[in-house]
Amino acid sequence: MDCLFCKIINGEIPSTKVYEDEFVFAFKDIAPIAPVHDLVIPKKHICCANEVDSDNSEYVAKIFEAVPKIAKAEGIESYRIISNCGDDAGQTVKHLHFHVLGGVKMGWGAESLGKTE
Ligand code: AMP
Ligand code: ZN
Repeated sequence: MDCLFCKIINGEIPSTKVYEDEFVFAFKDIAPIAPVHDLVIPKKHICCANEVDSDNSEYVAKIFEAVPKIAKAEGIESYRIISNCGDDAGQTVKHLHFHVLGGVKMGWGAESLGKTE
C-alpha cells in the first residue's frame, strides 16, 4: 500500500522517532506548529477515526497508553491531542494519527482550529 506513514513505520522513509512499541510508533512532525509536535500512529493501517472498530480499537487504546510516556519524554505535562478525520478537517495523510502539541500556551476557538470559511 502506498501510504507515507506505513513507510515511516517500516523505515522506508526516515523520521525522528520519539517512541515505539509493538502497537505504536511516534515521531516528530516534519512541519511543527508548536515547540513539541509529535505524531502518534498505529502500526496497522487504519485510514482515520471513521475506520476504528472493535477489531482494531486495541491500537487506539495502546496509543493513549503511549501518549503520557511520550509527553514525559518530551518534558511536557500539558498538551493537546488532535486527530483530523477527512478532508474538511484537514487530514492530509490517510493513516490514523494523533498530533500531540505542547510547549506553548494555546488558545481555543475558530482561529486556533484554522477555520478558513
Ligand atoms: P494531517 O494534516 O492531520 O493529516 O497531518 C499530517 C501531518 O503529517 C502534517 O502535520 C505534516 O506536517 C506531517 N508530515 C507529512 N510528512 C511527514 C514526514 N515525512 N515526516 C513527519 N511528518 C510528516
Ligand atoms: Zn498506512
